[in-house]
Amino acid sequence: MSGSEESLDPTADRPVASYLAPSTTGALHVDLPIPRRALAIGAHPDDIDFGCGGTLAKWAAAGCAVTELVLTDGSKGSWDPKVDRAALILERQEEQRAAAAALGAGDVVFLGHVDGELASGLSERAEVCRIIREVRPDVVLGHDPWKRYRLHPDHRHAGFLTVEGIVAARDPHFFADQGLAPHRPTCLLLWEADEVDHLEDIEEFIAPKIAALLAHQSQWESTMGIGAEPSAEERAFESRIRDRAADAGASAGLALAEAFKRLDRL
Ligand SMILES: [Zn+2]
Repeated sequence: MSGSEESLDPTADRPVASYLAPSTTGALHVDLPIPRRALAIGAHPDDIDFGCGGTLAKWAAAGCAVTELVLTDGSKGSWDPKVDRAALILERQEEQRAAAAALGAGDVVFLGHVDGELASGLSERAEVCRIIREVRPDVVLGHDPWKRYRLHPDHRHAGFLTVEGIVAARDPHFFADQGLAPHRPTCLLLWEADEVDHLEDIEEFIAPKIAALLAHQSQWESTMGIGAEPSAEERAFESRIRDRAADAGASAGLALAEAFKRLDRL
């Protein structure tokens, strides 16, 4: 936990490496200093909450301004072939706002690309670059695009848009027509990491993570296994989330953690 009160201030007159000085346990880094601003980028409503909800709740409670960017409209997140997809889009936006509120996050931005059809081309990269330049986060969090054997194309494209959006945002010659100052985040954390090397302790923030996940009521049946017997299945879902966090923390002696690949030479 050391250093968690320290600000991740990119304008401070210190080399980047000094505020990311590792508080390590074995090969794992544990806990970044609390950033002033963080941007989490997910493919669908609910991905951010699964990937880093506890970390965002912890940072928000310590004063970090958290913005969430959801790239698709979530319009295929239903097992009902007759679902009203326009209504589902609005429902999932409301759920994401409620989930963000449960974490203490501020803004939620929706780019509204069609669920299942996300691409990582230049136009999408420009959109992500613009948000990074507007939000000016110290830390960006997103899907690991290099996760092996990943099936869902949206998660892969969202990961590439996150890393490629950072490369564009930091360089003044990329998308100069945006008229926005370039911005270089200090650190990138990738969830669902192919090679975990960083943990965030979420022991005190598992409750808001679970509350955020449960805000996605349209996903209870398809994603969370909560259907016929909501109260029992809700408890089973909560214990799966706790077990996953316990597994993530075990190698560093943490009770509950979220696991990431950390890139800090951006
Ligand atoms: Zn997803």
